[in-house]
Amino acid sequence: MSSLQQSSSAHLISDGNMYAPTLFGYQRRETIPVSIGDLMLGSDFPIRIQSMTTVDTMDTMGSIEQSIRMIDAGCELVRITAPSVKEAQNLENIRKGLRAKGYKTPLVADIHFTPNAAELAARIVEKVRINPGNYADKKRFETIEYSESSYQAELERIRDKFLPLVKICKEYGTAMRIGTNHGSLSDRILSRYGDTPLGMVESALEFLRICEDEKYFNIVLSMKASNTQVMVEAYRLLSKKLADGQFKAYPLHLGVTEAGEGEDGRIKSAVGIGTLLEDGLGDTVRVSLTEDPEFEIPVAKDLVNRYVGRNRPNAPIPSLSNLSAGFDSPINPFAHTRRKSAELMNFGGHQVPRVIADYSHLKSISMEDLKSIGHFYLPEPDKWAMNDLGADYLFTGTSDLDFMLPNGLKQIQSATTWLQSSPSEHQFPLFEVEDWLKASKKHAQLNFVQADAEEIWSNDLFVNALKLAQNEVLVLSSSFSNRMAAIRRAFFELEIQGIHIPVVIRLNYQDIHADQFQLFAPTDAGALFIDGFGDGLMLSLAGLPVQSSLENSTNFGILQACRVRISKTEYISCPSCGRTLFDLQETTARIRQVTDHLKGVKIGIMGCIVNGPGEMADADYGYVGIGKDKIALYRGQEVVKKSVPADSAVDELIQLIKEDGIWKDPQETNN
Ligand code: SF4
Repeated sequence: MSSLQQSSSAHLISDGNMYAPTLFGYQRRETIPVSIGDLMLGSDFPIRIQSMTTVDTMDTMGSIEQSIRMIDAGCELVRITAPSVKEAQNLENIRKGLRAKGYKTPLVADIHFTPNAAELAARIVEKVRINPGNYADKKRFETIEYSESSYQAELERIRDKFLPLVKICKEYGTAMRIGTNHGSLSDRILSRYGDTPLGMVESALEFLRICEDEKYFNIVLSMKASNTQVMVEAYRLLSKKLADGQFKAYPLHLGVTEAGEGEDGRIKSAVGIGTLLEDGLGDTVRVSLTEDPEFEIPVAKDLVNRYVGRNRPNAPIPSLSNLSAGFDSPINPFAHTRRKSAELMNFGGHQVPRVIADYSHLKSISMEDLKSIGHFYLPEPDKWAMNDLGADYLFTGTSDLDFMLPNGLKQIQSATTWLQSSPSEHQFPLFEVEDWLKASKKHAQLNFVQADAEEIWSNDLFVNALKLAQNEVLVLSSSFSNRMAAIRRAFFELEIQGIHIPVVIRLNYQDIHADQFQLFAPTDAGALFIDGFGDGLMLSLAGLPVQSSLENSTNFGILQACRVRISKTEYISCPSCGRTLFDLQETTARIRQVTDHLKGVKIGIMGCIVNGPGEMADADYGYVGIGKDKIALYRGQEVVKKSVPADSAVDELIQLIKEDGIWKDPQETNN
């Protein structure tokens, strides 16, 4: 047992870094209760699931019917956009229609720019969501130098605009979400704090202080971003700032904005939301997919249900007593920094995290089998081709191969098989801990050592040997049900022990279906990569016939969603709402079809001009609705083609990418 083990302290990190109740177990952050009509929110209650309608708010029947589909799927809070007073007023008809059909689910009015609409909606529905970036400010995209007094004057102006809403909410018992979006921070916040997690937090705190001064506390907070690193950091910083600043512990609403659709949208949502749920943060969740809102609900349920009943002591994972005594955390939870590791072959150092495909379950492996992991044998020219999702290593377990692997793919074998065969220099052994400790023969350049996380804090002999290891990559897994926390704890121990060898994160799943796999693996692995850990990823899911391609796309999808290895085009598409000016799902599918070979390019697809440009702050190109069937095309934040007819807008977008010299024909990228 190392001296760093076994502390009874409930708080495992120094006060300076406090943002979660524990880093090495699961414990939900304690919050005050918030009432939204009859629905209670906060740490004493289940994590609530919500979504947002996409039909026009003036379409009363359409809104009622879609709300019912969402509620029947399990939605506990229905958000509806109220861009102006007339939509805010129509919330009354929607609410009455739902109540008449026996649906009591609370409604939330989504407000941007229009205090009048908010003040009306707050008298009608159970909750209003305001965006502090645009409630009292029009975006002018200006950098203004503020003196202390001019900044204070701005805060006074905000107070005057915001106070009436606070008073109405207090009087009517209406709840409020102060919901910051990374993409729509005010010019004032940007000028002082920049486009940062701190700016996001301060944006909400400016409004929160006004609420607290009025003794209005029925508040939920959110810090959404499309960039998962920024999103996680902002929520963590908010949690810490609330505690440091003597604010009440308000419940948190979690979401990744513009996550996109399909597999990518699910993986990205799970990385952001799942990482925070693992930290014990989050009291309500909305998964934003560019799909009908009822499809968001099962995804949110799968993410959240993992934590039902998890509140038990984290006894099996020892804490770090040094940290509670003021020891600096070896990671910075508020700014992504990759763990420093030694470079070995193409692992560690500045190398991108590697993907290892696990074929150890196959008794024999054919060339055809490698298609699932992005490697294609072409008989005619007699050569191999690889797509952007080509795995780097293939773990074959105890099986042999009767063909040569392509250059871009190297083989890892179980050490027992490797020792008994005459391996080439491109075959590498995977040792179990005991076998590695006593091995008389090892590969001269690269050996993999498979260890359970627990070994890192309980096996001194192994840890001492790792300190001397030169040609080893550690493959870390965990048999704990709380596997992310166990592996995180092992990474902390490696840092503390000064062990800098590359580490592959290996996660095995069984008895879950494919949809759950694509949420649970991104949660577990994503939380570690967001923390800066991991030089490789190896996922496996036992028991499904198509597992290899699923595992492979999930491996690459997680690395992309965590922004640690970019292998495909990224789409930042809004989920659509009552403001949407074109068919978002169909357009997103069309754009994806013609651009999904443009590795690393980020394309924003936004339903409206009001929020679109801000929300896609991160994108290289933007496709934004500005009127009925009229599109504006953006290069970064700059409009370059105004008012393009929707019919030709996709072609114009391609033309724009071509003008920038970034375009490639699909076949050029298929090698
Ligand atoms: S960007 Fe999309 S989701 Fe956001 S307000 Fe506009 S249409 Fe609605």
